[in-house]
Amino acid sequence: MSTPDRARAPDIQAWITRVVREDIRALSGYHVADSAGMIKLDAMENPYGLPEELRRELGELAAGAALNRYPDPRAAELRSMLRVTMGVPAGMDLLLGNGSDEIIQLLALACARPGATVLGVEPSFVMFPLVARVCGLAYVGVPLASDFGLDVDAVLCAMQAHRPALAFLAYPNNPTGNLFDGRDIERIVTYAPGLVVVDEAYHPFAQASFMPRLTDFPNLLVMRTLSKLGLAGLRLGMLAGRPEWLEQLDKVRLPYNVNVLTQRVASHVLRHGAMLEKQAAAIRAERARLRNRLDELHGVQTFPSDANFIMFKLEAAADVFEALKQRGVLIKNLTGSHPALEDCLRVTVGTPDENDVFLRALRASLEALRSSHA
Ligand code: PMP
Repeated sequence: MSTPDRARAPDIQAWITRVVREDIRALSGYHVADSAGMIKLDAMENPYGLPEELRRELGELAAGAALNRYPDPRAAELRSMLRVTMGVPAGMDLLLGNGSDEIIQLLALACARPGATVLGVEPSFVMFPLVARVCGLAYVGVPLASDFGLDVDAVLCAMQAHRPALAFLAYPNNPTGNLFDGRDIERIVTYAPGLVVVDEAYHPFAQASFMPRLTDFPNLLVMRTLSKLGLAGLRLGMLAGRPEWLEQLDKVRLPYNVNVLTQRVASHVLRHGAMLEKQAAAIRAERARLRNRLDELHGVQTFPSDANFIMFKLEAAADVFEALKQRGVLIKNLTGSHPALEDCLRVTVGTPDENDVFLRALRASLEALRSSHA
């Protein structure tokens, strides 16, 4: 039998075609923009670092961590901290993930029976369809209403037609920023033939939650993350729900998916809940100020936000996005990502200084673009 001759220039593309799944080859992956040296308002991170003293304590915790050992596979201490700080109802269990992205993947993998479908609304978080497809499930995206609220009848119709094993609703939604009507979500959960995951990534800025409602619905799961709260770099997400569901999902989880440093640091930082809430309150206040300033600009239309970002629409958004980048400010260009998002941009709420730099850069960009078209 002949072995491939690797000394000759191999045709890697042909090799890839033989080896890699066709649907994966056709996918474009999740794109992360290069942000080196920029004011970074593209990824919904908390702009505030941790207080100096807490950072020193975390340094000591890291120094004392047994990095030669595998982490506690159940992350017992962290789970009990999370139960309290996230208000998980009695009788409900928790599953932890390397960010909530990983939990989306666990859910999809566990539900990927042949022919299974994931349902989402559109526009929403791009990882829902991406992960569904990578895990071999069909994906059905139901358009939102023109005000980006839920079109409940359309969702129920799609549920009847496709019988989705899994449905995702981001509450508040990304990238639009709005909080869906809670009664609409109730109707959807009640009607759904499978699981409904309410993704509360932006909960610290919304002050509304389905967490207390877990006990009311047998097929509801609530997902949270520490990323928007100020710990995006740690990668910790959680799913709360009935132990029977989580027991099944836990079989798909890799045993040590939450590393030693994440467990230690997150458990410690969560003891400073008041500090985290103070930062979230500052972001909420800045969100209101930023939206008012944006509304004052001629030709800019903002959308209501219960998250730590604001979506806004203006003419020639792609040019404005590039002009902002030239001025050292990175936000998110949504043009081209969905027909309902033409000429839409999304800016993360930063510190007051960062927001002022952004606003100045936006004004200057708009003036420059208008004079170049005059
Ligand atoms: N859900 C939503 C709605 C999001 O917008 C994001 C991040 N942009 C995530 C989940 C993922 O968060 P993480 O993996 O950082 O926990």
